[in-house]
Amino acid sequence: MLRETLQTMERLLVELTDLNTALDKALIVAITDVQGTITFANGKFCEISKYSLEELLGANHRIINSGHHSKEFFRQMYRTIANGEIWTGEIKNRAKDGSFYWMHTIIVPLMDEHGKPYQYVSFRNEITERKLEEEKLDALIATMPDIVLFQDGDGRWLKANDAATRLFTLEPEVYRGLTSREISAEYPQCQVALQPFAESDNRVWDAGETAYEECAIAQTDGTERIYQVTKVPVYHKGGERSGMIVIGRDVTEQKKAEEALRRSETIAAVGQLASGIAHEIRNPLAAIKWSVEVLRKANPETEQQIDLIVSELDRVDSIVGELLLVAKPHDKQFGIMNIHDIIQSVVTLMVGHARKSRITISTDVPETLPLLYCEPHQLKQVFINLIKNAMEAMDRGGYIRVEADVDAAQDIHVYITDEGTGIPPELLKRLGEPFLTTKEKGTGLGLMVTHKIIQDHNGTLKFYAHHPQGTVAEVVLHSVNSATPSVLWYGKEK
Ligand code: ADP
Ligand code: MG
Repeated sequence: MLRETLQTMERLLVELTDLNTALDKALIVAITDVQGTITFANGKFCEISKYSLEELLGANHRIINSGHHSKEFFRQMYRTIANGEIWTGEIKNRAKDGSFYWMHTIIVPLMDEHGKPYQYVSFRNEITERKLEEEKLDALIATMPDIVLFQDGDGRWLKANDAATRLFTLEPEVYRGLTSREISAEYPQCQVALQPFAESDNRVWDAGETAYEECAIAQTDGTERIYQVTKVPVYHKGGERSGMIVIGRDVTEQKKAEEALRRSETIAAVGQLASGIAHEIRNPLAAIKWSVEVLRKANPETEQQIDLIVSELDRVDSIVGELLLVAKPHDKQFGIMNIHDIIQSVVTLMVGHARKSRITISTDVPETLPLLYCEPHQLKQVFINLIKNAMEAMDRGGYIRVEADVDAAQDIHVYITDEGTGIPPELLKRLGEPFLTTKEKGTGLGLMVTHKIIQDHNGTLKFYAHHPQGTVAEVVLHSVNSATPSVLWYGKEK
């Protein structure tokens, strides 16, 4: 019995030793404790790292660190093995003589009876030559301003250049070997950006041919960048998926410029139209109104219908009035004004109306702000429109704050903050289009006029809206102290 057991043990030992020798020949093997102290290294490890066994044993594994990888790269590796999972990856190491070598590395954590790792065993292969080839490719794509991304046939990321990792706010390398979905799970900050991007991958595979698409990629600051993306699916000879090449170019600014052009063209067209027909409408309108009032006196029983006619006529009148604001360049009276006075007079005009809707308007506009060269009536119209919109978005009352300050470039910023419904993103993109309104009695012209006036002052208007709550409208105007003039065509106008 004992002899048999001994024989079995002997055989096992021989087998183990053989296995060990085989492993030793084939692979680079090391063992560290949980602190990373090397407790075992085989001959091949010594050979490639150019350290002697004595130098390695007891040393920290960092001894062969090349400094090539990011902290996040090692953090992710450590997280994986500390959780008891096997980690696979490619690591660049430095030998004792300062030369570098690349290792395909598998780290297996060995667990104690409490389920905690007590040792890490690593098996490696040298892949330096292949990596050198890859590095050449890397260098080629690294500096490209376009995004470049290679995926394998299963959608796992193999390589992404700096432009791509920056766009998706990823640390370099951490994506390697993961699919877009796995990356989103691991790094939630890129989820919104990656999701639509990944979904279109599936469509490209289904179609099986190169796709050119426009992709809106959400940024962590809430903005969006538009990319023109080319996706090339690559197949093996047999037809199985081999990989996908993705190249993308940022066309956000170009798109914005096109959009601005389109908008200003529409405004110009509306303006032209308006100046042609506004007076033609206003005069008969006044006549109709007068006649209706006469009818009212004669037919007291039709009071309700008459009221309706009058209110509809008022609506037409207000549309024409707003159109005229865009159309009337001739009676502009420019002058040097104090933004404080402009805002104060607008707010005075509106507080009564606001109070009825249980809205409090507070202002914080220092009198000491630099002066503006502007058309005060038109600027008042801007603030009236913005505050009116703010009020109309707050059907349950609340607060509107009007604040102003000056920045380092001596430009004046005015903020109108409300507690209203906010503006949903689809609408936000289209604000300023004529006749765009969500209100039953709206004209959808207020913001178009506002845009036009601010444009004439060489300023900007931006909205920061949090649907379903609250909007901030920011108007930026150049002051007389700014380097840029507030009126581009100053002096050119007749
Ligand atoms: P109108 O006020 O006649 O509807 P505007 O051009 O002034 O036209 O505004 C267009 C649309 O923009 C509004 O109908 C509304 O949906 C939206 N909007 C503008 N300002 C705000 C705001 N402060 N809060 C919520 N929605 C707003
Ligand atoms: Mg309005």
